[in-house]
Amino acid sequence: MRIDDRPTGSPVIDSVVDGQLCAGCGLCAGISQGSIEMRLVDPGYARPTVVKPLPPTVEARIAAACPGAVVAPWRQTQAMHPYWGPYHRVMTGHANDPDLRFAGSSGGLLSALALHALESGQVDAVAHIHADPDRATHNILSLSRTRADILAGAGSRYGATSPLSTIDALLSRDERILFIGKPCDVSALRLLGEQDPRVARRIPFMFAFFCGGMPSLKGTDRVIGAMGLNPADVIRFRYRGNGWPGEARAETRGGTIGTMSYHDSWGGHLSKEVQFRCKICPDAVGGVADIACADAWYGGESGYPMFDEADGRSLVLTRSGAGDRLLNDAVAAGICEVTDCPIAEVDLMQPGQVRRKRVIFARAAAVRVTGQPLPQMRGLLIGRAAWRAGIGEATRNFAGTIRRIILGRR
Ligand SMILES: Cc1cc2nc3c(=O)[nH]c(=O)nc-3n(C[C@H](O)[C@H](O)[C@H](O)COP(=O)(O)OP(=O)(O)OC[C@H]3O[C@@H](n4cnc5c(N)ncnc54)[C@H](O)[C@@H]3O)c2cc1C
Ligand code: SF4
Ligand code: SF4
Repeated sequence: MRIDDRPTGSPVIDSVVDGQLCAGCGLCAGISQGSIEMRLVDPGYARPTVVKPLPPTVEARIAAACPGAVVAPWRQTQAMHPYWGPYHRVMTGHANDPDLRFAGSSGGLLSALALHALESGQVDAVAHIHADPDRATHNILSLSRTRADILAGAGSRYGATSPLSTIDALLSRDERILFIGKPCDVSALRLLGEQDPRVARRIPFMFAFFCGGMPSLKGTDRVIGAMGLNPADVIRFRYRGNGWPGEARAETRGGTIGTMSYHDSWGGHLSKEVQFRCKICPDAVGGVADIACADAWYGGESGYPMFDEADGRSLVLTRSGAGDRLLNDAVAAGICEVTDCPIAEVDLMQPGQVRRKRVIFARAAAVRVTGQPLPQMRGLLIGRAAWRAGIGEATRNFAGTIRRIILGRR
């Protein structure tokens, strides 16, 4: 997975990258004082490259926060669930701004709550992902300061993102920033906060979404290819949103439009290209974020979510006092509508996350047995989640992971 096989001079980066545990968050580059750069490697993952020797203090800081080495433990709060993590309140809801609700991946709640924090003066900017204006299928981190900026970033981008690759520069600004990222990005930022007091001062809110895994950019090219288009000709690309779940939509320089349903793009292409780190992810639900959102899928009769088009609806969990206050404030200001939801109903909305969490223990054990490195996973209730798995399910996942490791097909 590295560009070449020589040791980089950073034992942490070597172990994480060789063990295919890199999530691509960019934290190591962001705090490396120029020693590490994030680059795209085949088949389209963002990975660190050490370009000059790392100061020992930097190496230690990476080891303490890199999500390939350690995952932030869930913090004790009012309630804790082995699948869904710590929570104050669990709700479904949506943005009241129709444009945000339509453009958003599900109900536009992440965007609406971020906009509310901005417009009510609680933060000066929102750091989140946008499509790269120069390369339509790639992604960049931007600082949004207006409704139009936030609207432009609404929706999910299922391709390599490294939102922490400039984190030191962000923390050096005299600004309060709301950060939105994947659960692993938020884990890294929380752990960085244990070493760097600027995180608490500069980043009063961290938002995450539930994450089914990060596909390589080859997955995106597969989707575009299956639309009958050449990825090199695409000038605009959305994975979903503009409806719920909305379609993948590509537009070429010549004006040709290709579309594909969410069911086909995720199920048929993107999910086949997910990196190995995601298959053993012990916290894919943003357990250390202040607020976490997800799709509040309507369960079908089989219990499997229906992906029929509908008005967008997000699941939202507040996980800290700060997150709770922001959400209540936004509801009182008419920014969004929410309805309380029993935690047991989340199992019906998110069956994929249920299946995944309860087999993480077995998959992690398989990695350990084969002598491969594994991130620290303390305080994430993977053992308690495993009790809910059937013995057959656990055995299959244990054996399957060993087979993949031995065959080099992680
Ligand atoms: C890789 C990936 C996997 C996902 N897996 C699941 C899943 O298993 N279950 C589930 O319910 N939901 C999943 N989602 C999230 C889901 O698509 C919605 O983001 C979530 O329902 C919140 O919707 P919303 O309308 O409130 O968010 P929106 O208002 O649309 O806001 C989404 C925010 O996420 C940011 N963002 C988009 N893509 C990325 C990225 N790649 N990295 C960091 N930030 C990004 C945007 O900049 C925006 O600020 C996934 C999203 C991604 C990107
Ligand atoms: S997971 Fe993040 S911090 Fe760790 S090696 Fe990968 S990019 Fe760097
Ligand atoms: S599944 Fe986990 S490791 Fe993979 S991108 Fe999502 S949060 Fe990060």
